[in-house]
Amino acid sequence: MSTRSGIGYDSHRFVAGRPLRLGGVSIPWTHGLAGHSDGDAVLHAVVDALLGAAALGDIGTHFPDSDPQWKGVESARFAREAVRLLGERGLVPVHVDVTVIVERPRLGPHIAAMREATARALGLPVDEVSIKAKTNEGMGWIGRGEGLGVVAVATVRGSSG
Ligand code: MG
Repeated sequence: MSTRSGIGYDSHRFVAGRPLRLGGVSIPWTHGLAGHSDGDAVLHAVVDALLGAAALGDIGTHFPDSDPQWKGVESARFAREAVRLLGERGLVPVHVDVTVIVERPRLGPHIAAMREATARALGLPVDEVSIKAKTNEGMGWIGRGEGLGVVAVATVRGSSG
């Protein structure tokens, strides 16, 4: 049985007038995240981690923002597609761990819903999906509220073993 891990990172700029989507849920806030899709940086980092674990490239390879079919789509679609691509290589996700670095809004009240939606998109039990949030202590572009960053680690396993 082979176990592999992959890392993913994403960052998006905050823009006024867009809904804020993170971890597959809508979060009430004055700004959303810029992006060709819904801008869900949590799911984008998770997708990159999954693809990395399978050495399948990155999210831009599979879902290029030059392709109109991905415009405005829910990022859960990318997650489901990444799981399908892993399946073609005989791999299944078993665990993901995510850290969101954002000054505001505070994500504490939304973490449970984000975990549930992310788990659903990946076909995982919710206790195999960890999502944490922290501030950047007011430092730099995150501290100034210009955007947010996300890091994710995914663990995948051979589906036959
Ligand atoms: Mg992204």
